[in-house]
Amino acid sequence: MTEKADTVIIGGGAMGLAVGYNLIRKGMENTVVLEGRYLNVGSTGRNIGVIKERIPTALSGGREDLIKIAREGLKIHARLSSETGINTYYRRSGCLTIARTEEDMKQLEGYHPHFRRLGLRDDYLTPEEIQSRWPYIDARSSLGGFYSPDEAMVHPFGVVWAYVESIKRMGGRVETHNKVKKISRTASGYRVEAKKNVYESENVVITASASSPWLAGQLGFHVPLEPMRKEELISEPIRPFFGPTIERLSVDYQIAQTMRGEVLGTIGYMPPGFDLTESTSGFLNDFADETLSIIPVFKDLRIIRQWTGICDMTLDLLPVVGSLEEGLYISCGHHSHLITLAPIVGQLLAENIITGSTSRMLESFIPQRFDFSHLHKDSRYAECQLKVPETILQPCARETDAKPRLRSKKY
Ligand SMILES: Cc1cc2nc3c(=O)[nH]c(=O)nc-3n(C[C@H](O)[C@H](O)[C@H](O)COP(=O)(O)OP(=O)(O)OC[C@H]3O[C@@H](n4cnc5c(N)ncnc54)[C@H](O)[C@@H]3O)c2cc1C
Repeated sequence: MTEKADTVIIGGGAMGLAVGYNLIRKGMENTVVLEGRYLNVGSTGRNIGVIKERIPTALSGGREDLIKIAREGLKIHARLSSETGINTYYRRSGCLTIARTEEDMKQLEGYHPHFRRLGLRDDYLTPEEIQSRWPYIDARSSLGGFYSPDEAMVHPFGVVWAYVESIKRMGGRVETHNKVKKISRTASGYRVEAKKNVYESENVVITASASSPWLAGQLGFHVPLEPMRKEELISEPIRPFFGPTIERLSVDYQIAQTMRGEVLGTIGYMPPGFDLTESTSGFLNDFADETLSIIPVFKDLRIIRQWTGICDMTLDLLPVVGSLEEGLYISCGHHSHLITLAPIVGQLLAENIITGSTSRMLESFIPQRFDFSHLHKDSRYAECQLKVPETILQPCARETDAKPRLRSKKY
């Protein structure tokens, strides 16, 4: 059967859902979001939910626009629960970026004047000040840190739930288990062939994260993305006591606590690829070493799961957002920032689709900055399939088989 739609969005992660929500709010009800698997299967269901505006990769040549949109993203997150009537578990937790070596400190001192010039809070705290505010952080573990009280946390599942329910309430559709296999041009727009149906649509929006190059490639566009893998873990819930997210940039370390009490964290990156079945004990050990140096009280924390997700990155570490040609749009390459950016990028891209003009805030991210003249020859991009066994029904439902060093019987 062939269905007609005003806009077909491919990919039901935070990005696709945010675009769908904003299009329908602005009156484009005949919008359908096609998700190939289940909700939260992609990076959106695998991240920590830290929302930040101090993005270091945004501090050179023209990239400051990333900080400007991240700041707007934070503002929308603060009101998303009341706007949609669904709790996204937004919490203004703050974020403390610590320096553990002289090099770390030099790096953070270098960022500081830029963040301040852009109007961001980035307050220096000595190790003693850190420990007096948050006594569980060992003063001997750092040379100090920079703190922003404005940064926050959300529950990514809550954000997805808020968007999906709002889209349905307003008359739009989110179809799961409906993978798009083929996109082609027609006289009046596009033909999208999915597992369950065929759609004819004036507009197509590709928001399939690391699979986006494969979809855009079918229409002759080369979008150079690198699928970097990142691991994450979660503990069983303990009493919620944690203040800010704590991070150390030089080792890509972050640790935070959910409102329910689980401790979440990540460190480092794995080599690029699409294999999400790989979870390493090296990650667990590195995370344990870093955590126990900073927060010794966690020596008895029990880790219950670890998993892997993809951060889709471009060569210049900026997202790709905008129109590829009339009626065809893309938003991908959001590195490790999209939970922060989704609400504002979704809003601006929806405006772009409706009005035909690109917001100034998105100009630095237009796809045309890359060379579309050749398709990617790398076989990794030929058919970008995430390797997730069908038996894994929820992205976070797998017990780790590695021996966690943070395990004890105490909690
Ligand atoms: C471990 C980890 C920690 C992170 N921590 C943070 C954080 O703290 N804060 C933050 O802001 N960001 C974080 N990120 C980054 C963030 O998770 C991503 O930037 C974001 O989720 C990307 O959203 P998306 O909608 O673009 O992609 P996804 O959530 O991956 O959604 C894309 C969807 O497209 C679907 N799809 C693919 N191909 C097709 C097809 N052919 N047909 C139909 N559907 C298709 C996929 O199934 C998937 O559901 C983290 C990422 C990882 C991996």
